[in-house]
Amino acid sequence: MTGSIQAIRGMNDVLPDQVHLWEFFEDTVRDWLRSYGYRNIRMPVVEKTDLFVRSIGEVTDIVEKEMYTFIDALSGDSMTLRPEGTAACVRAVLQHNLLYGGPQRLYYLGPMFRHERPQKGRYRQFHQVGVESLGFAGPDMDAEHIVMCARLWRRLGLPDIALQINSLGSSEARARHRAKLVHYLERHLDRLDEDARRRLHSNPLRILDSKNPALQETIDNAPRLLDELDEVSLKHFEDLQTILREAEIVYEINPRLVRGLDYYNFTVFEWVTTRLGAQGTVCAGGRYDGLIEQIGGKPAPAAGFAMGVERLLALLEEYTFSPPMTPADAYLVHQGEAADRFAWRVAERLRDRGLHVIHHCGGGGFKSQMKKADASGARYAIIIGDDEAERAEVSLKPLRDLGEQVRAEVDEAADLIKG
Ligand code: ATP
Ligand code: MG
Repeated sequence: MTGSIQAIRGMNDVLPDQVHLWEFFEDTVRDWLRSYGYRNIRMPVVEKTDLFVRSIGEVTDIVEKEMYTFIDALSGDSMTLRPEGTAACVRAVLQHNLLYGGPQRLYYLGPMFRHERPQKGRYRQFHQVGVESLGFAGPDMDAEHIVMCARLWRRLGLPDIALQINSLGSSEARARHRAKLVHYLERHLDRLDEDARRRLHSNPLRILDSKNPALQETIDNAPRLLDELDEVSLKHFEDLQTILREAEIVYEINPRLVRGLDYYNFTVFEWVTTRLGAQGTVCAGGRYDGLIEQIGGKPAPAAGFAMGVERLLALLEEYTFSPPMTPADAYLVHQGEAADRFAWRVAERLRDRGLHVIHHCGGGGFKSQMKKADASGARYAIIIGDDEAERAEVSLKPLRDLGEQVRAEVDEAADLIKG
């Protein structure tokens, strides 16, 4: 039987008609990142499985059930399609000793893979813009990340993205809180679901992150990490808030905000919109001072965040944003032996002059070629018959506005097109 082969569920094609939105977003993001001094780093899409298990933590949604892990039949090694970028970025920085050159402001942009149930805003291949600042210890860097996000939302024209912040404190504070939390949850064992019971002793903080409505009341009344913060954690958190107020960034403290990944400490934050239903978090991040050491490097502080590109694009579409289309400058129509040959020279010459030219391929008469020229959206048709070829000229016909067809030499035509 021969059936047509479809893409893998939850992994999407981006078709040419949608791609201008992606390109607009990517261009805006690159420019925005440069304006804050961030440099691009590109890591492989596949890493050793161990990297993610060690960094993200075994008792997390990602490592427990979302990773695309496989044994490479040729080497026998266990490999994983990256579910996020932080671990790989830190791995690369350590492997190439980038921190010797001082602290680093880095970003990456690309596909991530998680085996989740596909739904609006949740895919198995999705894209993130990730930003990591390595070697910076203070709340000023946490603030920079938040301030720059706010600027990006403004630049994209996206209102209604609200900021929530919290502090996970130091590891001592978390240990104290954890003991109280486990004690509390044990007393309410009957109200916990299966996931929560499984995590009770391995990763109880994650229970606070549960989306099960039946658990919400229990979670609301649970001991709060915020109440356990020591002086150093509190100061970090307060200093951050001082900068945010100074920068006129509106925020809400959400004491239940924890991160799905093990390596966060001190500041965590999320940018959330109510306009995308349940998948409302468009950006999430925070500080992860322990990760570099956990991956085998010399201890160094770090902070970062990741944006979900599909969710931000969905938001852009909500606001019926339409980025400018960029049609070609000219569609090159040609018929006749001499004309066909001359057409190549003309097309390349026009491109030398910086013009975008579609060279008609596939033969056919003038009439059908002109229809294609029209449909292409190009601003001009460049028409070459054997007569034009003989005189080394072209005919230039405006397609988008009224105007005479004119005969000209190639460079003259280029000047006319450029206006
Ligand atoms: P969620 O609670 O929605 O599962 P998460 O905590 O797993 O999110 P992070 O690991 O913090 O998400 O990833 C950062 C951002 O990447 C998210 O806020 C979201 O915008 C986006 N993201 C995460 N998983 C997906 C996915 N499967 N499909 C599309 N976007 C995603
Ligand atoms: Mg998730």
